[in-house]
Amino acid sequence: MAIRVYNTMSRSKEELETIEPGTVKMYVCGPTVYNYIHLGNARTFLNFDMIRRYLEYSGVDVTFVQNITDVDDKIINRANVEGVPADEIAEKYRLAFEEDMEALGVKPPDIAPRATEHIAEMVEVIAVLVEKGHAYVADGDVYFDVSSFAGYGRLSGRDLSEQQVTVQFSPEMERKRDPWDFALWKAAKPGEPSWESPWGPGRPGWHIECSTMSVQYLGGGFDIHGGGLDLVFPHHENEMAQAEAYSGDRFARYWIHSGMLNIDQEKMSKSLGNIKMLREVLEEFDPDTVRMLMLGTHYRSPLSFSEMSLTEARASIERIWNCLERIESAGDNGGGGSGAGGNELTSTLERLDASFREHMDDDFNSAAALGEIFEAVREVNTFLDGAEAPPAAALQRAKQFIMEHCGALGLELEASSRIVASSTSRAKISSAGSDRGRLLSFAAEAGIEAETGEMPDEELVQLLLEARQVARESKDFTRADMIRDGLNGLGIQVEDIKRLRPE
Ligand code: AMP
Ligand code: ZN
Repeated sequence: MAIRVYNTMSRSKEELETIEPGTVKMYVCGPTVYNYIHLGNARTFLNFDMIRRYLEYSGVDVTFVQNITDVDDKIINRANVEGVPADEIAEKYRLAFEEDMEALGVKPPDIAPRATEHIAEMVEVIAVLVEKGHAYVADGDVYFDVSSFAGYGRLSGRDLSEQQVTVQFSPEMERKRDPWDFALWKAAKPGEPSWESPWGPGRPGWHIECSTMSVQYLGGGFDIHGGGLDLVFPHHENEMAQAEAYSGDRFARYWIHSGMLNIDQEKMSKSLGNIKMLREVLEEFDPDTVRMLMLGTHYRSPLSFSEMSLTEARASIERIWNCLERIESAGDNGGGGSGAGGNELTSTLERLDASFREHMDDDFNSAAALGEIFEAVREVNTFLDGAEAPPAAALQRAKQFIMEHCGALGLELEASSRIVASSTSRAKISSAGSDRGRLLSFAAEAGIEAETGEMPDEELVQLLLEARQVARESKDFTRADMIRDGLNGLGIQVEDIKRLRPE
């Protein structure tokens, strides 16, 4: 079945027909690097990572470009507050962004162009827009003349003649011919970073960087343009107007927008101050848990965040881990049997594979696709409950099904370590598996015995972390250290959580 995507431009699902069959050229708006990213930003980047991975899983060759906005009012303001140069702020948070994406298991873009490294190209595009009468110069600023572009408002569905506009008085407003016009170039102000241009020193507006860099790296009329839903207007509307006015050709074919992550019905945003930094969340939860949380809601729907939703996502991941463990130990305990049950399981998995693809082909419905993975987990568990000597081939297929389909959504499972967290510390259990016998005898040595025999490793480690916490609170550091050293000796790393305060 062909992949269908919801195109914001047509407000409907369309079959994905790319310029070159078998390849997708895709541009996603990247971060403005003036702070650490929050969980809302992370949702958008994870959603596009999921889309990219699924396209690749389907055999498509994807070129993924995501820019870095490293010159912007917000960066300049932050630099002024901190009393450091703007480029220092941008570099610090660009590196932090890369670290965060790596920690989250998001694939790095094929190309990550930075605005400040493409000023000359932007100046060239702006010059052509002025020449063609789509832009005008006013006191060293250059503005796009919205009335010169017939299709303005098409993407966001706005008819500007019917739109009320509240105009706040500002020197910029004075220079604009129409309140909807927007800056392509901003004349330099004292203390701001600036570059030379035919209109005097200044810096580019935000929208022009994406129009310029997307076409530079992907060519005009590339396949998919993505970003958060909050970017449809004005950012994407303006990107499209500039790019199409410049070239006379179509800009992006498919516009994909990711829904917002909200807290208490409000968008998580730095300006509202209701943010939870991704780094802070990754101190307590493993990356698969964060991804599971995001995948559980269709990428276009709003996602209402709560602490509880992370705990639930963690429980879902554990269900998958536990099933994989059961498969492995069934294999260790023989697994040489044969029987009809195995064939039945294999054919159920074939059916679930087909449904998984159908859901994902239907506008990347990861929530429904996850449902098929959990259905497989249930089927495998039932099969293991009933089979004394499960056939090795069926076990192999069950494991492969889970790993492959989780992998298509970016859930790493094997590569990631299982993380157990208490409120003050966390422990990483290598996915290679700790030595069960030694863990049990160490727990007994530490005075934790009751019913530990049946307990999964994670719960046992959790109990040990709690015992260590109790010891630390009562200043029994010898016992606290003994527990930490004992866990370390078993290859389980214990880290004390240093909480990063959002700035
Ligand atoms: P920014 O650095 O503010 O330009 O944002 C980077 C990306 O995060 C953009 O694609 C935004 O649309 C997206 N974004 C910002 N806030 C949220 C949110 N609360 N939920 C989902 N995506 C968001
Ligand atoms: Zn953009």
